Amino acid sequence: MQHVLKAHHFIGGRWTPSQNGNIFESRSPYDGALLALLAEGDREDAQAAIVAAQAGFKVLSQMTAWERSKLCNRVADAMEKRREELAATLASEQGKPLVAEAYGEIDAAVTGFREAGELIKWLEGEVIPVETPGKRAISFRQPRGVYAVVTPWNFPINIPVEYLAPCLAAGNAVVWVPAPTTSLCAVKLMECIAEAGLPDGAVNLVLGPGAVVGDEIVGSVGTHGIGFTGSPATGNAIAKRGAGKPMLLELGGNGPVVVLDDADLDRAAAAAAFGSFFNAGQVCAASGRILVTEKNHDALAERLVAIASRIRLGDPLDGATTMGPLNNAQVVRKIEEHVADGANRGGELLFGGERGPDVGPGWFYKPTVIGRVEKQAMLNTAETFGPIAPLVVCADEADLLDTANASSHGLAAGVFTRDLSKAFAFGEKLRMGLVNINSPSCYWELHLPFGGASGKSSGLGRLGGKHTLREVTDVKTITFDVT
Ligand code: NAD
Repeated sequence: MQHVLKAHHFIGGRWTPSQNGNIFESRSPYDGALLALLAEGDREDAQAAIVAAQAGFKVLSQMTAWERSKLCNRVADAMEKRREELAATLASEQGKPLVAEAYGEIDAAVTGFREAGELIKWLEGEVIPVETPGKRAISFRQPRGVYAVVTPWNFPINIPVEYLAPCLAAGNAVVWVPAPTTSLCAVKLMECIAEAGLPDGAVNLVLGPGAVVGDEIVGSVGTHGIGFTGSPATGNAIAKRGAGKPMLLELGGNGPVVVLDDADLDRAAAAAAFGSFFNAGQVCAASGRILVTEKNHDALAERLVAIASRIRLGDPLDGATTMGPLNNAQVVRKIEEHVADGANRGGELLFGGERGPDVGPGWFYKPTVIGRVEKQAMLNTAETFGPIAPLVVCADEADLLDTANASSHGLAAGVFTRDLSKAFAFGEKLRMGLVNINSPSCYWELHLPFGGASGKSSGLGRLGGKHTLREVTDVKTITFDVT
């Protein structure tokens, strides 16, 4: 019989089985192969991790920034040593192509630990002038305590690191609940963290259903801050459960890419295709919809079809593959619903538009281009989260802006124009946290502030470099009477 990896929670510095003995399976989205048997936690396991984290916090918060910086770098070293294994696990369990994408995600995560370890050394406080004679005031940043971190499956190594690295650097202990379908990736990342020799309880991993273990850690009085990336629906539930706690919520998006009449169409098509098809479209900042006027619709669609036809679907571990399977059945069902709705409303299917049964048994959906999508169609109004490039025709510049802003989401956009003043006008008026001019909607670097616009359903707060460090720390003010 083939050896199947068995993995447990990591609580208080030890690999720990579930108290109830339950397990669940991790399977490949490519061929359904069993990858691992994992401990399925419940509320008791989550509580045990919270208690362990409180002990971990006591030690971590007493260390200097320089000492914690070393820990971050040791985690990065361990990840670098195990780059091949991490990338192969990511490709096998998440489904993204090893060579085209998985290595890049591991490298970004390594950088995330190194950056947090560096930036924490420069998180300075203030000496504040005061009105009263004989008084002095200083303010500085302190860790908040135990962070509840809940993460999704689309970037199962890098998104956790966006929280774990700054929390560790700043002195917060963490209880982390990853998405069930990418739990083996979480175990491999946790092994690297454990190898770095952190204080017991500094980072704890609890596997299992989010609605149970995730709910327990965000709602518990034993946690002091929340970091969550996932869907708006879960984000809203978490906001209620964790009401009153500081929280970072990184939720859904829906593009858009806005192509103005003077745009370089080759450049716009390449960027929109990248934004629609990277990670098979399972990206919060994906180019979920492409807004264009009638003038450029056909020429842009033609270019997108040409790019889509060159994409090679297949085994994520095969170096020639440029798009793997989707991560799970739910994603495929949502894509099918959105594409059918777009076609029923008169959208023109130009490429793809079906599952990929000729590719393999897994959750494949062909890269798809749909022209003249109606504005009311789900492809324009909601997040699809799949490899779909829907073009929506707008009347003029004002309509492009209104249609872009009409979405309930407000995360990231791309705008294509050769006119810098128009670029600025769009950049300022788009209700998005991030606007990329002449770049894909998903262009981002780890230190740039990333998050949703206020009043939209894309979340709260900003991830990225020093911005996350500020989010996961409290400002402490101390006054002195020196008379
Ligand atoms: P999801 O909300 O279904 O799940 C995310 C995580 O929450 C999983 O670990 C899940 O187990 C857990 N969870 C589920 N119910 C919970 C509950 N009641 N309490 C606590 N935790 C719970 O999202 P998903 O489908 O896994 O991920 C896709 C979504 O994530 C998309 O909407 C995407 O846009 C968003 N996302 C956003 C960003 C960003 O940075 N803004 C990045 C990646 C993904």
